[in-house]
Amino acid sequence: MSKSFITASMLYNLTSCEHRLYLDTFGDLSARAKPNAFIQLLWEKGSLFEKEVIAALKTPFLDLSFFHGDEKEARTREAMEQGTPLIYSGRLSVNNLLGEPDLLRKEGTGYIAGDIKSGSGEEGDSDSGKLKKSYAVQVALYTDILERLNISSVRWGFIWDIHGKEVRYDFSQPQSTRTPQTWWELYQSFYQRARDILAQDHHTKAAYSSGICKLCHWYQPCLLDLQRHYDLTLLPELGRTKRDALNDHFSTIQEFAAADISTLVLGKKTRIPGMGPGTLHKLHARAQLVSAGDQGHAYLREDVRLPIQDSEIFFDIEVDPLRDHTYLHGFIERQHQDNSTEQFVAFFADSPTADAEQEAFAQSMTYLGQHPDSKVYYYSKYERTMYRKLQAKYPDVCSAEDIEALFNPERAIDLYFDVVLKATEWPTRDYSIKTLAKYLGFIWRDTHPSGAASIEWFHRWVESGDLEIKQRILDYNEDDCRATRVLLDGIRRLPLRMSIA
Ligand code: SF4
Repeated sequence: MSKSFITASMLYNLTSCEHRLYLDTFGDLSARAKPNAFIQLLWEKGSLFEKEVIAALKTPFLDLSFFHGDEKEARTREAMEQGTPLIYSGRLSVNNLLGEPDLLRKEGTGYIAGDIKSGSGEEGDSDSGKLKKSYAVQVALYTDILERLNISSVRWGFIWDIHGKEVRYDFSQPQSTRTPQTWWELYQSFYQRARDILAQDHHTKAAYSSGICKLCHWYQPCLLDLQRHYDLTLLPELGRTKRDALNDHFSTIQEFAAADISTLVLGKKTRIPGMGPGTLHKLHARAQLVSAGDQGHAYLREDVRLPIQDSEIFFDIEVDPLRDHTYLHGFIERQHQDNSTEQFVAFFADSPTADAEQEAFAQSMTYLGQHPDSKVYYYSKYERTMYRKLQAKYPDVCSAEDIEALFNPERAIDLYFDVVLKATEWPTRDYSIKTLAKYLGFIWRDTHPSGAASIEWFHRWVESGDLEIKQRILDYNEDDCRATRVLLDGIRRLPLRMSIA
């Protein structure tokens, strides 16, 4: 494919990282990692879902999936000229745009385009009403091609999603009440950025983002590059936008750490666009900690209340987002702060069915109900979000009030939001439970532990019924629960150092 074409997948990647578009186009492709098992699973699931949707279609359609390149495009154009009502897997190009929409549908005098996605068509829950940026830019690109070819009927497209819903992407609408920019304007800004990157008029730089980079095929080369340049994004909570703003003053973590930042503070503001004095001081202290090397140790920025309780429960769930299925609720119990009393309790949904999911959820709620005096610890809001979802899905198991009572801070503590982010500093590049527990010396038994890997194992367990795979999932979850305990104990030992700000 010519390097000058802008495609939907380029814009999709651009929504998460602009440097990826640069590297995918101009980088040394031999340095890219091979897709890992989880990424392959996503591809397989996506293509399987698309095939299932197409196979179940009741309306007649023209299938062009067997054709490629110019022939596919010629047949797409021919079918549109003939007014074919629905075209599957077409291809269109005009000027520097190239698109392969899953569906082209005759609507009035023209066509609209859409994609089939094996995820929700909206952010978060279905019916949230919030469109996905990454989907919007793709479908907008198809719509732009149709407009430029004078065969578009309206400025909207659609997603057929995992819930069997057609989600309309109306590009004339503002993104939200807070963001008046329309979806079309957003698309145009991404299109322009892609053009500039391909023309090498816009210089891109890697920017570390734990959640995005660890799933990217450029992770290793980018990390080396970032480390070589002591890039500011290697500081937790300091992403591309803040880094680019700070780069006007400091190029590296060390420069930032050594600087007298008082000259940048102007009362309640700073000279750094979009950054208040509190954030600037916090990031500066973080730069000093990280650049101290072996001398830099984690500490408490403020005192935290972590009451000692006779019985503690460390809690972690495993969810398969591809099936929207919670398959494991794991708990480590500990009595009187004595690690030798630790016991792992798990409730596993053996099959990917609603019945199995409901049963595991009910067992978990019963178990928690049997331990009313135990303090519950978990890491991030995810557990609470998923328990609210499970309660709405299975209202017979418990009430919404039961879930709120469970996650009341008197009963349960989110170590990530309520403790790590609010009150601690670590000489690490992110605050994931893996990173912090490893910093404290904890070692997972699995050589490649990750939530993504666990999802892939669960798929293999469902397909094979292999008990070794199930045990691997359980061990991984147990270690995650234990890591939460290690983190709690580690935080309790941290020295208190008051902030300078
Ligand atoms: S590893 Fe991160 S910075 Fe590098 S291209 Fe991928 S997402 Fe971008």
